[in-house]
Amino acid sequence: MARRRSTARIGVTGLGEREELAQGVFINTNYRGCTPGFVYTDEGIILIDSPLIPKQAMDWRAQIEEQYPDSPFLFMVNTDHHRGHALGNQYFMPVKVIAHERAFKEMSGYTENFKERVRNSFKREPEIQAQLNNIVIVPPHVTFTNRATLLYGDRRVELIYVGGHTPATSIAWLPDESVCFVGDILWVDQHPYMAQGNTLEWIRALELVRELGAELLVPGHGPIVGPEATYRVGEYIEFMRMRVRDFYLEGRNKNETKSGLVGEMLEWFPVPPERKAKIESQIKSGINRVFREIQREEEEAAGITSSDAGDEEEFDE
Ligand SMILES: [Zn+2]
Repeated sequence: MARRRSTARIGVTGLGEREELAQGVFINTNYRGCTPGFVYTDEGIILIDSPLIPKQAMDWRAQIEEQYPDSPFLFMVNTDHHRGHALGNQYFMPVKVIAHERAFKEMSGYTENFKERVRNSFKREPEIQAQLNNIVIVPPHVTFTNRATLLYGDRRVELIYVGGHTPATSIAWLPDESVCFVGDILWVDQHPYMAQGNTLEWIRALELVRELGAELLVPGHGPIVGPEATYRVGEYIEFMRMRVRDFYLEGRNKNETKSGLVGEMLEWFPVPPERKAKIESQIKSGINRVFREIQREEEEAAGITSSDAGDEEEFDE
């Protein structure tokens, strides 16, 4: 299997070489926000996720066009609706975006306020912030609920809804190449972003990924791994569920559980000091989410009908 290692990181935005995982199947791990990929077919290119930072999205497009100058862009698959995976769609037009129907719902609801928050999240990186003055949201043109299969040339790209990380999360499975783009179902040596998660679905999604028998998994963030990498994030989620249940059964409320548990969760993966505050608040959003799940499960088990109004938070990974 030909595999080219990423080489240089250039400038503040980080541009770097693509990596070929199987013939005509590429990823790029040098961008912020996600690890995008693309699949060459005789009829055109199928893209998976789009970089968030405009210069990186344009670099990615240029790399694809350099490799296959005569191939049209057929589809852009978004594995979820988060900014890191879908905000760069505008740089690949006139491609048709395809994603789960819930991604359409979420992305259609992105307002000026959302765009402003995206820009503000780069306030310490003015060079990047300045690139984000013309955000155009491109929601999916085509949606699916459970599965869709893209059949172009000799390729088969199966889009499978798995949920778990978000109610829109889907994976892209290439059975002939044994490569699976697993989106944010899989986090390697990082705390998973769980603020919009459903942990039971998530655990099932990890099982499903293992059952596919893929040789290579492309996580939504970071470099490729093998299927054994799915266990650790599953253990993390199970551990959080177990500890939240302990707290709940001891009669602690959501806030007590969040502050009581965040330290234990932090120890699971290394966190650089400058990211500690952000990761802590991300973990607390996850605990918040899991607390409501456990509460629902325990109330159901006790025959109590839950009055869960839900308190939505901001989602950004
Ligand atoms: Zn995500």
